[in-house]
Amino acid sequence: MVTTKGLVDFHCHLDLYPDHQVAVQEAENAGVFTLAVTTTPRAWPRNHELAQRTRHVRAALGLHPQLVAERAGELDLWDRYLSETRYVGEVGLDAGPRFYKSIDIQKRVFQHVLQRCAEAGGKVITVHSVRAAKIVLDHIESYLPPARGKVVLHWFTGTKAEATRALELGCYFSINAAMLDTPRHVAMVTALPLNKLLTETDGPFTKTGLRPSRPEDVTVVVELLSRLHNVLPATIAETVRCNLRSLLDHGEQISPSA
Ligand SMILES: [Zn+2]
Repeated sequence: MVTTKGLVDFHCHLDLYPDHQVAVQEAENAGVFTLAVTTTPRAWPRNHELAQRTRHVRAALGLHPQLVAERAGELDLWDRYLSETRYVGEVGLDAGPRFYKSIDIQKRVFQHVLQRCAEAGGKVITVHSVRAAKIVLDHIESYLPPARGKVVLHWFTGTKAEATRALELGCYFSINAAMLDTPRHVAMVTALPLNKLLTETDGPFTKTGLRPSRPEDVTVVVELLSRLHNVLPATIAETVRCNLRSLLDHGEQISPSA
């Protein structure tokens, strides 16, 4: 078992656990650098407030593609909060059967988000791309020049060719344990360069054993990646920490210095 100190959960919905404040405190106590993504801009102030009191948790400003059909009206609010954060997400596109009907409005919202991020500069964006890898990459290519912001593809399940294209666009990938249940995804993840990998739980939407995953459960992802690459878990943990550091570059917020 690897220690949780200094691990990275770059996509977790801390505000969707039964007790948000406790979930933040547990991530902090575990020493896991946790990006608390939000699904609606209305959730931003409270997430930001709780994260600000910690060393390891940061909040991201989101508008989830699965909620865009009902929440597109909150885009003004999203705009208003953007200057308060370096981190954006969860945003992106979902072309799965349940959400395909809102794909046109999702595209408009995602384009807007990327354009505002490009104007602002320096944002780090965690992006959802269910059944929409190609359109998501088209949007990133069109609206977010690599020098204007960084994208982390969360739970990416595109093809190897799409992953290669994403790498060319400068994207990082946050990997969770559920992705590694499918041989095709395992093959795609194994082909990714180690220096573009982050880890995530996407809790509470994934399970570890019978309960919803928590940030400290990224240990499972670290162990799976260590087996895939035949290196020690500690090597994966250190690599992911380095990757987070280079992703954030001159960043002032999450600073995994030790
Ligand atoms: Zn999510």
